[in-house]
Amino acid sequence: RGRVAHFDSELLAEAETSDVVRARHEMERRLRHAIETGGLALHYQPVVALPGGQVTGVEALARWDDAELGVVPPDRFIPLAEQTGLIVDLGRWVLQTACREAAGWPAGPTGVAATVAVNVSAVQLAQRDFLDDVVRALADSGLAPERLCLEITETAAITDLGATAARLTQVRDLGVRLALDDFGAGHSALSLLRALPLDLVKIDRSFVERVASDTADAVLVRLVVEAAHSLGRRVLAEGVESDEQARQLIAMGCDAAQGWLFGKPEPASPALTERLSRRAVSGPRPGPGAARCC
Ligand code: C2E
Ligand code: MG
Ligand code: MG
Ligand code: MG
Repeated sequence: RGRVAHFDSELLAEAETSDVVRARHEMERRLRHAIETGGLALHYQPVVALPGGQVTGVEALARWDDAELGVVPPDRFIPLAEQTGLIVDLGRWVLQTACREAAGWPAGPTGVAATVAVNVSAVQLAQRDFLDDVVRALADSGLAPERLCLEITETAAITDLGATAARLTQVRDLGVRLALDDFGAGHSALSLLRALPLDLVKIDRSFVERVASDTADAVLVRLVVEAAHSLGRRVLAEGVESDEQARQLIAMGCDAAQGWLFGKPEPASPALTERLSRRAVSGPRPGPGAARCC
């Protein structure tokens, strides 16, 4: 009223952009600080064998509860860490910590100690000294290599399949197991199952979600299981939430599962250690070339 105000959408967009950029920088700064000062934690989610549902291991999942930002989900801070290069230090910390904690889980009455799966980003895998990091994490912790499983996603393989396969073969020669994570989430090619030295294929939650209701997805899961098995890979279903899904997945021949039906991610604790040692399932020890499950 009685005034003229100029609205400049470009200026507004600029101001908004700089807000976003500032917030991102602030988050990056705080994440770096968290990595350096022990501000991250690991939670562990059980991996179970099908059809029995016995715990065979866990997957380590990074958690960040920041004093100012609150809980930041991995789907936000992992991509940020990948874009800024912080993933190298973050990933090294995860690897070291998961190996150290898992080394403290006794074999218990079953005689076979639980495995621990660690997510490895494509950026990390491409580092020249990645293999050294794995060797060091095993040596420092004393964890048997067979108890460590590294999970990679197809993005790593797609950028440079030859280099990725060579790198993974070096890791597997240490005795460490390998899993392809989130299979089916992107442009997953079945040829990857053959090109990479994998022990395990993890079928993405988006398929598992619809396995009991969508026949097209059920057909795809069945095909992946068949292809993986015929190549000597085992198959795990991610994000299993209902009995009905578990029943379907068992009927399809899935070897293992993870999901809220069996257990949510939880911090390391004496109770978790106790459960892992009691319920770690014993199986035939894999011979050379035999299919191994993470
Ligand atoms: P992911 O490796 O595929 O891990 C599985 C994700 O599914 C986890 O999410 C887990 O909490 C969630 N989940 C498990 N069961 C269920 C279920 O029954 N229902 C539903 N709705 N969700 C379930 P989270 O912990 O939020 O992690 C998300 C992603 O962040 C991970 O997906 C992984 O790609 C990445 N991530 C987490 N920790 C690390 C890490 O240490 N390093 C790297 N490079 N990536 C990580
Ligand atoms: Mg994973
Ligand atoms: Mg996954
Ligand atoms: Mg994922």
